Amino acid sequence: MSKSEETIFIENEDTHAKVKLYNPYEKSASTESISLTDFVEDWVCELVEPKHPALTTPATVDPFAGGVSDWEDKEKQMLDLMHDKLGIGLASPQIGSSYNMFVMNHTVLGDIGVYKPEIVEFSEETVVIEEGCLTFPLLYIHITRPEKVKVKYFKSDGTTQVETWMDGIDARCFQHEFEHLQGELFLDKVSDMKLQRAFKKREKLFKKLEKKVVKPNA
Ligand SMILES: [Zn+2]
Repeated sequence: MSKSEETIFIENEDTHAKVKLYNPYEKSASTESISLTDFVEDWVCELVEPKHPALTTPATVDPFAGGVSDWEDKEKQMLDLMHDKLGIGLASPQIGSSYNMFVMNHTVLGDIGVYKPEIVEFSEETVVIEEGCLTFPLLYIHITRPEKVKVKYFKSDGTTQVETWMDGIDARCFQHEFEHLQGELFLDKVSDMKLQRAFKKREKLFKKLEKKVVKPNA
């Protein structure tokens, strides 16, 4: 998940340039078919384009069942990428991987790696929050979700299990990243009309940022 629109606008000019530089729609979509095993063989910690098949494939590969022993290092790479792109959460399908894990910046716990997560309970109360996603920079959509969630997950050692309630932006981020692991995207949660409006707003944001980036050099 990415930070809100407001947060991005108060960042410095370098940040603006960085956000503008990453426009997935300037890249052509991959037409090759990729098998599930490919998603775990090559670990390249970079965002894949929005049409990459890993994004719509459930990330069911157990991170601790294979030969991967350097999860701490991989987690660090993902957290670095997440912060670099101004995100607060990043799931493995977003870098073209099918491991059942994601990273997020929790408001109290700080940066955490979340392995084999489960959501065991949802609050009845729901809340509308504007969400963004690192796979779709500057696309913001208001989405209704449960306000609190009780979650379970493993840490990078594969044995320590955490069980806790999350609320606010933490609950929101956890749910967003958890859905990435099911092969679902936040934009599928709203109507076509709402989505079209969000994409139009996004175009305007790109233009606004372009002006802000160009200005200091003019
Ligand atoms: Zn996302």
